[in-house]
Amino acid sequence: MTAALANVFTLTFIAAMLAAVMLIAWRSFGRPRYAMFWAAAFSVATIEWVGNLLFRLYERDDPLLFASLVGLCCLSNALLAVGFVQRGRPQANMAPLVAAACVATIMVTTITYLFPQRDVRDPLWLYFAASMLVIGAASVTRSLRTASLPERATIVMLILFAAIDAGLGTLALGQGASGESDRYQLFRTVLVLLYPLAFIGVGLFSVFLVAADLAETMRRLATSDELTGIYNRRGFEESAERAIRNAQRQRQPLAVVVADIDNFKAVNDRYGHSTGDRALRHFASRIERMIRRGDLVGRIGGEEFALLLVNTRAQDALEVVERIRRDIAAMPVEGRNQVVMTASFGVTGLRPGDISLTALLARADRALYRSKLEGRDRVTSAEDLDERV
Ligand code: GH3
Ligand code: MG
Ligand code: MG
Repeated sequence: MTAALANVFTLTFIAAMLAAVMLIAWRSFGRPRYAMFWAAAFSVATIEWVGNLLFRLYERDDPLLFASLVGLCCLSNALLAVGFVQRGRPQANMAPLVAAACVATIMVTTITYLFPQRDVRDPLWLYFAASMLVIGAASVTRSLRTASLPERATIVMLILFAAIDAGLGTLALGQGASGESDRYQLFRTVLVLLYPLAFIGVGLFSVFLVAADLAETMRRLATSDELTGIYNRRGFEESAERAIRNAQRQRQPLAVVVADIDNFKAVNDRYGHSTGDRALRHFASRIERMIRRGDLVGRIGGEEFALLLVNTRAQDALEVVERIRRDIAAMPVEGRNQVVMTASFGVTGLRPGDISLTALLARADRALYRSKLEGRDRVTSAEDLDERV
């Protein structure tokens, strides 16, 4: 057995294992549709490598067989790209894209069959593969600024693998129609060295992305509140502690607010628990709408919420919270019953000695308690409270 044959044999098994891993990942990790497309992509790649193996075993350069292999290769790359687009836009209708990928695959296959000269067919499928990888890289994230580390790593690797494919395609351009030249030998050598690398790399990084997405989902589940979708206590505390450390380091102001819905028990008693739940969602979404990007909001108890306003002095926070209070009191909860609710708030600003959220929450809580005592539906500042004592 030649080294090249052994190479293809190994790659066939790697492709089959990638297909199996993707299929298991799809079944076990909540059936993300993009993992299904990737499982299909690696299944097609497995068939392609088996074909490659036969092609080498029989050593017959049959144009129809070669065009079929090119077709499988293009289809597998196209499915990979469709998977990336699907991952980026889970709600999008994939049918037109899948149809376009199939048409492009058929076109490349037909041209390869009609023009079996090496300097046409080799660059064609390699450029096709490179362009699919570029589409994949472009679909990993909508904004590089908010991309996670695994996403950035995947983009870099996909571009690198696309460059390998495009480089190989360019090398294939000058090899002559029959491929007898030295250039052809060079192309074959580089192809055997680098193409498997790009193939395995793409496989590894797509598996890596599925795992990273799963980890992200778990993290989100552990830190967000199921009912309202905002942070739960744990999520709020984690992010708030980070924001407090940053603010202390950069000597920037920051304010923490606690809010408690007034007489919420009466809402539940009067309209039922499901209206109560709807009121909680309404409360969270009104607040979310009124704070800035980078500010935090979490549901830290039954009908208790906490906010962290970055780069905001206590005095300015009072104005923001007063606006929120008025908005809540004015906007009835949507639904059959026009439930109007109010809430009480306690506000405090970051002080030089504050090293953790606990101290801030305790102060804001005291201020909130005062709001309740003084008749509810109001905002109290811990700083004013301290002056009064
Ligand atoms: P106060 O103005 O003093 O805050 O009065 P309150 O009735 O809001 O205060 P209390 O703490 O006595 O009641 C809180 C209520 O919140 C009790 C509980 O039934 C309700 N609650 C807590 N979690 C949930 C929830 O997830 N869904 C619903 N519908 N109600 C909840
Ligand atoms: Mg309450
Ligand atoms: Mg309460």
